[in-house]
Amino acid sequence: NKQILLDNRPTGEAVASNFKLVSSETPALQDGQVLVRHHYLSLDPYMRGRMNDSKSYAAPQPLGQVMQGGTAGEVVESKNAKFSLGDKVVGFGGWQEYSVVDAGQVGMLRKVDTAHIPLSAYLGAVGMPGVTAWYGLMKICEPKPGETVVVSAASGAVGSVVGQLAKARGCRAVGIAGGKDKCDYVVQELGFDACVDYKAHKDPKSLYAALKDATPNGVDGYFENVGGVIMDTVLARMNAFGRIALCGMIAGYDGQPLPLTTPQLILTNRLKVQGFIVSEHMEHWPAALTELGTLVATGKLKFRESVAQGIEAAPEAFLGLLKGRNFGKQLVKLI
Ligand code: NDP
Repeated sequence: NKQILLDNRPTGEAVASNFKLVSSETPALQDGQVLVRHHYLSLDPYMRGRMNDSKSYAAPQPLGQVMQGGTAGEVVESKNAKFSLGDKVVGFGGWQEYSVVDAGQVGMLRKVDTAHIPLSAYLGAVGMPGVTAWYGLMKICEPKPGETVVVSAASGAVGSVVGQLAKARGCRAVGIAGGKDKCDYVVQELGFDACVDYKAHKDPKSLYAALKDATPNGVDGYFENVGGVIMDTVLARMNAFGRIALCGMIAGYDGQPLPLTTPQLILTNRLKVQGFIVSEHMEHWPAALTELGTLVATGKLKFRESVAQGIEAAPEAFLGLLKGRNFGKQLVKLI
């Protein structure tokens, strides 16, 4: 069982030498336990925060232990009556090829139906990132038909779902993403109304002008994944009584400063700004997953994946995710 451990904590930018590859035998199962072979590991930006030893909403990832994270796979051995060989399951098995799930933890293991939805989608559009999009949009941005919704990191796992759900609710959906390819995908494949390539507008004035063109009626709902200059720019386009769902600020995860130059706009425009952590809203997961699963199964919700091959590739793929080298949900495929 190959595993990736957190070996040491980053000082500044996360680097490959923060991680260590080891190998161990999978132990014999005890009563109540289940052995899962992982087909996919989910790589997610929140993992960067947990690599630090600082106070946050989640405890830090312990040093010398398997990197924690979501996984999708198959039951290959079971001493638990609730699980049988061959069951496809989604869980929190971490960066390793196999995980042993204890009797007390099997509640975290969810059987999934792969007849109409591919297994990997349960780590993306029909999983935590999808629910994140659903919750922040529906419960914080509260979009109404005809309004304009903007989302940053628009081609990614969360952002791609935000824009498509906003469109389905009759809104004008506008993305912000890095590069022409990502912007073309967001508009042509995902059906957003417009997308601003922030990398083509290094000067904040030019970025503002591009966003203004894309949002002629201003912005009513903003789903923030990035922070910094991008957030500053969108703030300047917000309409009175606009709503901002503060989901992520990936531009600062490696310790970069996140300037907010015009906070007074929150006051003068009477904005609602609400941060949230999706795992604290479990009561909404069933409704969100039902809607997302139906949309994916019927082809109405599209998604894209960046798939790294083999567990050895996980650290580099994760560092790439923090730099925007992924295009869609970042996964590691193990078999
Ligand atoms: P994505 O698939 O969107 O991948 C991350 C993307 O962020 C990159 O592809 C890149 O896109 C963009 N990015 C990275 N660095 C920068 C930068 N410096 N400036 C601008 N954009 C950057 O990841 P997810 O969809 O999984 O996550 C999106 C956000 O949602 C993250 O901030 C994450 O932390 C947050 N999140 C929050 C949750 C919550 O409960 N609050 C739960 C899940 C996710 P590009 O090339 O377009 O710049």
